[in-house]
Amino acid sequence: MSGYDAIVERYRGVTGEAPEGLWYAPGRVNLIGEHTDYNDGFVLPFALERKAVVAAGRRVDGRLRLLSLELDEDVDLALSDLAPGQEGWSAYLAGVVWALREAGHDVGGATLVLTSDVPLGAGLSSSAAIECAVVAAYCDLYGLDIAPIDRAKLARVAENAYVGAPTGLLDQAASTLCQAEAGLFLDCRSLETELVPLPMAEQGYEMLVLDTKTPHSHVDGEYGTRRATCEEAARLLGVPALRDVTDLDAALAKLDDETMRRRVRHVVTEDERVLRALEVGRSGDLAGLAPLLTASHASMRDDYEITVPTVDLAVETALSAGALGARMTGGGFGGCIIALTHAGEADGIGRAIARSFAEAGYATPEWFTAVPAQGAGRLA
Ligand code: ADP
Ligand code: MG
Repeated sequence: MSGYDAIVERYRGVTGEAPEGLWYAPGRVNLIGEHTDYNDGFVLPFALERKAVVAAGRRVDGRLRLLSLELDEDVDLALSDLAPGQEGWSAYLAGVVWALREAGHDVGGATLVLTSDVPLGAGLSSSAAIECAVVAAYCDLYGLDIAPIDRAKLARVAENAYVGAPTGLLDQAASTLCQAEAGLFLDCRSLETELVPLPMAEQGYEMLVLDTKTPHSHVDGEYGTRRATCEEAARLLGVPALRDVTDLDAALAKLDDETMRRRVRHVVTEDERVLRALEVGRSGDLAGLAPLLTASHASMRDDYEITVPTVDLAVETALSAGALGARMTGGGFGGCIIALTHAGEADGIGRAIARSFAEAGYATPEWFTAVPAQGAGRLA
C-alpha cells in the first residue's frame, strides 16, 4: 500500500481498522473530438496516470463517511438521507451510492477516504475519476457484477442526476474502460466503444498536457449558444444531428448564415478527424495523429471560435518548439492543450511555453508528460 499511506492512516483514524482495499480511477484527456458529443458524433479520449484513489470499507450502520485529503473535510451522511441536489464535493461520491441504490443494487454504507492527483477543474475530469473510483470500490465491496460500460453509465447518473451537471458519457467511459497504451473511441449516439492502440512509448512518442491556467469565463453561455446553433443547423438540414451530414459542401450550400456554416464545418470535419485518428490507431503508425491534432486546433480556433489567446499561444509555441502536432483539449475558453512530441521532448516544450507566457504577461502554466494509462481498478 506504499504511496497511499496517508489515506490508509486516515481511514484507520476514522474506523479503527484497516480499509478493505484501495481502488482507483484515472483522469483523462480527449485526444480528439471536441464539441462532437452533443452532435451525436465521435470522441477519442485516453486515460492518464493521474488518478483518484479511495481507501474503502463497508459500514453496517447505514452511514456514508466521506473524506478527501485534498479538501480536508469529513462528511457523515445517512444512506436514507441521500437525495439529488446535494451540494459540494461529497455529492460526487454520495451520488454514486445513490445511483447504485436507485438502479436496484442492494448496497449499504461505507467509509471512503479519497486522494487524487488529477487537478480539480482543469478539464482533466477529476470529477469522473472520483466517481469511477467509488463505483469500482462498491462493485468489489458489495460483490456487484456490473459490466464496465454500465459502471460508466452509473457514474454518469451520479454526475447528471445527483450533482446536477449535464455532461455526456465521455469522462466516465474513459476513466472506466481505457487501457494502457490505448485510447477509447466512443460513438456518442450508439455508445459503442472500441479500444484504439496508442503505443506511444513503444514508437518513441509522448504527450505534453499543459494547463494554461486561464480562468474559464462565459463558458456556459458560449456552450449553450454553440449547442443551439448546431441543433438549428441540423433542423434546417433535415437531419437528426450534425453527425448525419454526409456531404459537407452540399450542406454548407443550403445554409445562409456564415457563422452557422462555420460551426457546421467544425463539427463535421472534427468527426472526420476522429474517424481518421481511429484509422491511424488501427493501422499502427502514430505519426499520422500529428496533423489531425493541429487541424483540430485550427478548426476550433477559426470555425468554432472556442479558443482564447493563451491557448492559441500555447499551441503555436508548442509547434514552433518542435511538437509534431498540438491542440486545445476540452470544451474551450481556457483549460489544457495537448502536444504530441518525440519521447523526452515534452518537458522542454512545456518550458518553452512557460517562457512565452512570461513574455506575454500570462500566468505560469503547469504541465506534465502523459502516456495512455489503465482505466479504473483495484490497487491493493
Ligand atoms: P473537472 O472534472 O474538469 O476536474 P469538475 O468541475 O467537473 O472539473 O469537477 C471538479 C469537482 O470534483 C471539484 O470541485 C470537487 O467538487 C470534485 N473533486 C475532484 N477531485 C476531488 C478531490 N480530490 N477531493 C474532493 N473533491 C474532488
Ligand atoms: Mg468533470
